[in-house]
Amino acid sequence: MTAVSVRMPAVQVPDLRDFTLPELVEWIAGLGEPRYRAGQIFRWLWKRQVDRFEAMTDLPARCRQLLEAQACVSRVAAVAVQSSRDGTRKLLLGLSDGERIEAVLIPEGSRLTACISSQAGCAMGCGFCLTATMNLHRNLRPAEIAGQLVALQSALGPGERVTHIVFMGMGEPLANYAATEKALRILIAKEGLAFSPRRITVSTVGVIPGIRRLARAGLGVNLAVSLVATTDEVRNRLMPINRRYSLRELLQTCREFPLPPRRRMTFEYVLMADVNDTSEDAERLLGLLKGIPCKVNLIPLNEAPEIPFRRPSRQRIEAFQKILQRAGTIATIRESRGQDISAACGMLAVAATPLDTQLSIPYTPQCGVEQLGSSLGS
Ligand code: SAH
Repeated sequence: MTAVSVRMPAVQVPDLRDFTLPELVEWIAGLGEPRYRAGQIFRWLWKRQVDRFEAMTDLPARCRQLLEAQACVSRVAAVAVQSSRDGTRKLLLGLSDGERIEAVLIPEGSRLTACISSQAGCAMGCGFCLTATMNLHRNLRPAEIAGQLVALQSALGPGERVTHIVFMGMGEPLANYAATEKALRILIAKEGLAFSPRRITVSTVGVIPGIRRLARAGLGVNLAVSLVATTDEVRNRLMPINRRYSLRELLQTCREFPLPPRRRMTFEYVLMADVNDTSEDAERLLGLLKGIPCKVNLIPLNEAPEIPFRRPSRQRIEAFQKILQRAGTIATIRESRGQDISAACGMLAVAATPLDTQLSIPYTPQCGVEQLGSSLGS
């Protein structure tokens, strides 16, 4: 028999960062502890961002020992940071099994937007997106989705604070629905990261059952839909998900999505030369969006050698925008940020690294990856 090194399962006991607050209450009650301990622990994990039980000083020593034996706390570790000339920062993050993901910090005036990932890689196969070339490695757990905020916050400068969160990093959030919803609950919880749901946007290729579940969950977060094409024929070619859920069904589902008064849904439209950038496309888009309170985000394609499409000319992009605007539709051209560090829309992809390189992240047996001080500086 040849020696095979087997990777330890990442989690043998529950990772307390995977729990929403109500789940933590149930779990702690199951251990025979008072239910209010859950709130204490949740605040340590998410507000004070402490991940060692011994540091949770308002818990009795007996309770801390119980937690040591029965639970663990994972941490998303910043492995490397790249800074763009425009102030955008891209973090390479390491997970407990050696998997790598990316998250981006985007400053825009008084805003600081965190763009986070929901999966390592992506299975959606959109023909214009670089993440698609990785295929899906795996879903992220709630701890790993919400934990990206903890990692990003540790990379902030003095006085900086994340104000907005967008699920526009790697992966399709609604193809990892359960973990995404739990992470949203952690991000929103007052005892957790306490973000207003109005400042959180979930972006999807159009996974209809996921949009319906998100609507039913009633969290009040914003929805963005990557529409990208105005006919099923073109959308089928660009986005395989459309073969399953057609444009008509998708837009019907969007119409039914409950929007609070004065709020709008976002439609992302990646503009590609001679593919979806004609005046007929713009007119058709207006027709599709009729009756939906929305705004359109026009994203000129970010080009890459692996992507067989081109960005339209500036003139063409502005002509497309004008047609929408003249009809009274809000349409902005989103200048992708962080292009010089491949942090722009659709450019997140972690190069495949050999297994031994991945495992070189110090690995602790339960949930943890030791923080690498390396490129973060101190
Ligand atoms: N899977 C979700 C979340 C990722 S968001 C979704 O697709 O909505 C990533 C955004 O970047 C999407 O709107 C996508 O259409 C866009 N995008 C992908 N590849 C791109 C590229 N090469 N240039 C510009 N935008 C791109």
